[in-house]
Amino acid sequence: MEGPSLLALYHRIKKINGKTCTIEGVGIKRKGQVDLVPYGKRLIIREGSSYIKVFFGMSGTAVTRKLRNREPSLTINAEDGMRLFFYKCSLRVLSAEEFQLYYRPETDIMDSLWDPSSAKERILALPSDCIADILLNQDVFCGSGNIVKNEVLWRTMVHPLRRIEDISVEKINEIIEETIKFSYLFYKARVNGSGIRSTLGVYRRRTCPSCGSDIRKENLGSGKRVTYWCPSCQK
Ligand SMILES: [Zn+2]
Repeated sequence: MEGPSLLALYHRIKKINGKTCTIEGVGIKRKGQVDLVPYGKRLIIREGSSYIKVFFGMSGTAVTRKLRNREPSLTINAEDGMRLFFYKCSLRVLSAEEFQLYYRPETDIMDSLWDPSSAKERILALPSDCIADILLNQDVFCGSGNIVKNEVLWRTMVHPLRRIEDISVEKINEIIEETIKFSYLFYKARVNGSGIRSTLGVYRRRTCPSCGSDIRKENLGSGKRVTYWCPSCQK
């Protein structure tokens, strides 16, 4: 689940905020006032001075009704009857100190505190990294995932393996701007339930909507993540 989908999920379940709840999961049992904090690809459950970091991966979700024949990873029961069930999630408990070190909302592409100039600094500090890796680096673009990466590179016409030192500062500014623009399109499609296919130019496409060339697909970058690009448009 990438940042835009996580934020859409947060808005569906945020009614739990401020309610007194019991929280139960494997090795976790507590009671208190709950507040949810969306952060990048993670959802943070804050209760008192402790925090549970929830990672949804590819197929995790949180819903208000229990799914049949499936065991939730975590359940939140509010005193007023509201319930949340988390499925296929990995969980990690953080202390207040660990949370303070971890949480940097200015790096989150979906946060109102997102700061493009500090993003530029973080990018320029990694001159030998390729741009495909940078767009997956959670310290640089917290919340950006493989869909955002592929689409932003296609929209800005940059080859995924270009190194930062070989990209102009103007192009880096464009990549930063387009990351936010595309992420909000992605978010709106998730909120409307319209599906994201119409927002995609290259991800899982066969031909480039801009020039008609065949889209290439290969596992690229240090994490060998699947990458789609147009060999004619992206240089
Ligand atoms: Zn093309």
